[in-house]
Amino acid sequence: MTLHNKKIMNFVNGEMVEPLSGQYFETIEPATGQPYALVPDSNKDDLDRAVIAAQNAFPAWRDTPAEERAAMMNKLADLIDERQDNFIQAESKDNGKPVSLAGALDIPRGTANLRTFADAAIQFKGDVFEKDTSYTYTLRQPFGVVATISPWNLPFLLFTWKFSPALAAGNCVIAKPSEVTPMTAYMLSELINEAGFPPGVLNILHGKGANIGSAITNHPDIPTISFTGGTATGIEIYTNAAKQLKKVSLELGGKNPTIIFDDAEWDKALEGAKTAAFANQGQVCLCGSRLFIQDTIYDRFKADFIKKVETIKIGDPKDTNTQHGATVSKDHMEKVLSYIALAKEEGGTVLTGGNRRILEGRCKDGYFIEPTVIDGLPHTCRTNREEIFGPVVTLMPFSTEDEVIEMANSTDYGLAASVWTQDQNRADRVATRLENGMVWQNCWNLRDLEAPFGGFKKSGIGREGKWRAMQFFTQEKTIGRPR
Ligand code: NAD
Repeated sequence: MTLHNKKIMNFVNGEMVEPLSGQYFETIEPATGQPYALVPDSNKDDLDRAVIAAQNAFPAWRDTPAEERAAMMNKLADLIDERQDNFIQAESKDNGKPVSLAGALDIPRGTANLRTFADAAIQFKGDVFEKDTSYTYTLRQPFGVVATISPWNLPFLLFTWKFSPALAAGNCVIAKPSEVTPMTAYMLSELINEAGFPPGVLNILHGKGANIGSAITNHPDIPTISFTGGTATGIEIYTNAAKQLKKVSLELGGKNPTIIFDDAEWDKALEGAKTAAFANQGQVCLCGSRLFIQDTIYDRFKADFIKKVETIKIGDPKDTNTQHGATVSKDHMEKVLSYIALAKEEGGTVLTGGNRRILEGRCKDGYFIEPTVIDGLPHTCRTNREEIFGPVVTLMPFSTEDEVIEMANSTDYGLAASVWTQDQNRADRVATRLENGMVWQNCWNLRDLEAPFGGFKKSGIGREGKWRAMQFFTQEKTIGRPR
């Protein structure tokens, strides 16, 4: 018999509730391959109940002074901080990521998101157009009931990143975390009442994309959806949402280039390229999965890079020394391994890694994949064009700026890039010509929460970030009078 030590609940109208169908499915700990909790398989009926609660809560929430909304968001962040270690352990267990990463990134960024948008609630304002003959101003007004749908790779970080601006702007929210990693969203729901939010303001529904996700996309009383996830899902959501002319923000996949010129600071570039490729087991939309190295330094950089990658410590995510944990699920592990097989079929050479890693003891059935480095592939092959979203990086030589820009731009994706050179003019020239929403110079994943975040091409539509997200979750009204 399977033992489940936790039953996750939906949070609707200020109460923990079972899914109306009574249906649940198992969630698995990726490091052990064992089921450990039950997740509500919510459906349209659960959504209808949550939408009614949110509609009822909306007028009072909209009219609540921004300072009070902000105070509740800050209080929620404080309550999470008081339990930070529980959240870190839970995120690591649910996702397979090392506790060190959950502690350094996921959980602190989650509370930073709440605080950033609490601040935005207070500071956000409309425009004034004062002319000789007219006086015009704008209001930024909330929509009513909005929805957020988030993925499994940075579960708590992206869950809070999406619903916080919606609440700050005065909307009531239906938030759907990934069914693969529901635990920290559930733990957050246990604190919502204590933070002071009125019932119905923030509702959390768990379940599968095809069921509750699709119901959200098609619901006539949810005019606005903010989605982060895969490009194929984004296209489906966009298509469904278009039928009702919903406003949609899409943060999608990436196939991001890391570009190393021969004058780059050696050690920093090596470390940066390694982190960009393998952070979170390569499961970050921003990961640099294509590493372009100038031909004059190709062999030497490649040799040093492999040495560095081979020092990455794979292990039990609970171990504080572990640097590389499990991939998120069996399905995902198999997908990543199938791409390594494809790379070999396409003529690539695996320089290090390439296999599932079987650990001893508690983690013997876990979904671990070795950090994998491959070269010998053209930039046009499938391995170099499709998002693998795992610990796999390909190396490619280039000789000129023009050549590397052409290769870097040769995918359907356009999320992020990093460029490593000590020549600032070159770094700026390349950044200008790359078809990516974000370009980092001599660093990777430098995030200012105020700055716009989002992709070109099939990496998404719209921008997030402190002010852009507040704009997304409000509609602008222009009011004018003669002077
Ligand atoms: P996914 O698209 O499978 O799922 C994301 C969310 O969408 C989940 O909550 C899922 O339940 C839901 N969903 C699935 N099908 C749906 C449907 N038909 N209608 C409505 N909702 C549906 O993505 P994933 O596998 O969870 O996450 C990995 C992907 O997310 C990668 O492609 C990665 O690049 C991308 N991602 C992008 C960003 C970004 O900011 N651009 C950030 C993180 C992850």
